Amino acid sequence: MDEPTRPALARARAILAAEIIAIGTELTVGETTDTNSGELARSLVAHGVAVTRVTDLPDHQPTVVETLLAALARADLVVCTGGLGPTPDDLTRESVAEACGEQLRVDPRALAWLEGLWARRNQQFPPSNIKQAWVIPSATTLANLHGTAPGWWVDRPDGRVIVLLPGPPRELGPMWRDMVLPRLVERGVGDDMDVRTLRLTGIGESQVADRLGEPLLRRSNPVVATYARHEAVDVRISARAEYGRPAVEVGDEAEAAVMGILGEHVWARGDTSWAQALGEALASHGWTIAVTERGSEGALVALLRGMPGLRRAEVIGPGAEPGPRASFESDLELREAERIRAEGRADVGLAIRVETAGQDTAVHVGVVTPAGRHAEQRLAFLGGRQGADRAAIAGAAVLQAFLRR
Ligand code: AMP
Ligand code: MG
Repeated sequence: MDEPTRPALARARAILAAEIIAIGTELTVGETTDTNSGELARSLVAHGVAVTRVTDLPDHQPTVVETLLAALARADLVVCTGGLGPTPDDLTRESVAEACGEQLRVDPRALAWLEGLWARRNQQFPPSNIKQAWVIPSATTLANLHGTAPGWWVDRPDGRVIVLLPGPPRELGPMWRDMVLPRLVERGVGDDMDVRTLRLTGIGESQVADRLGEPLLRRSNPVVATYARHEAVDVRISARAEYGRPAVEVGDEAEAAVMGILGEHVWARGDTSWAQALGEALASHGWTIAVTERGSEGALVALLRGMPGLRRAEVIGPGAEPGPRASFESDLELREAERIRAEGRADVGLAIRVETAGQDTAVHVGVVTPAGRHAEQRLAFLGGRQGADRAAIAGAAVLQAFLRR
């Protein structure tokens, strides 16, 4: 709301280390999972700020004050989320005022804005909401375009910064992205950093680590780390500038090394999903797709949910009558792919069929495109639900590899 007045001192302090404090009793009793901290941490790290501590606290003023003071003694930036609601249990503003030794007062502009929200709906402004217009002298409010709780930006005399954000993720996200980050960046935030993620399939995390080797995985710059996720093994490269080389150059070099070793397994970058990756691959050919899966309980449909170009998705249950017989196993999947492609009036048909194979899951894949046909069988680790999920990913990977040819 207000344009911030920035003391000269505030500019002098570089923001290199941050702490995140998520406030709300629902977090510490396990009713709500703290997702805000992770979102904020990822964003800060990507901007070159080290996140040195993340804390979840109940709505208890003495605890919040104590934690705030400790955080302010350690970090350049303290980001708090939650506790900005109108009810008496929301005590974050009061806690920050106490930690800063300042008095709360009503910000007339914030109050006018809040009153306007109710007037617009022809409703009486509830007195309890007045506290959402509170500020302290060293704080300026941050407009909330998706709720009633304004955030705060607090400039401490020593150049440290406290930021208060509302708890609901859909309010916090835009406020962080549109109001806080630009201001931090303008202030000169963090080191020159370059963070990138390569997404791998068809290989386990330990194999990835083996092939990358200790020297690469133990380097302090860039940091190369592996993460086993549901839909991929991610290799994350985070590089800092060094010896006059910009971070992006350090990152490029590491990425080239990783690609040289594992390039054949890389199916996407960043936080791309399978639906996005395949959607893009299909769009590059200008093709639509129809899919059918047998015995995998909708795992393929779930994986491809929201994929652009998906014309039809068919799920055939494991108890369904057997499919058409064919002379060769692979003929069956190709015929199924051909059938669904015709039924969906799509350019591409993809069929998968899963079968138990001991403790694991065999997946038969058929792909038919205007450019050709391809059948392949793969083994997915584990059985049941997990095996089916992995089988669906194997089907997606086979299709992507074929589209890339
Ligand atoms: P508050 O700002 O404390 O009134 O929080 C309002 C709502 O935001 C809570 O009821 C939760 O649903 C959600 N919320 C609060 N803190 C978090 C958090 N750290 N992560 C995810 N959701 C949260
Ligand atoms: Mg709360």
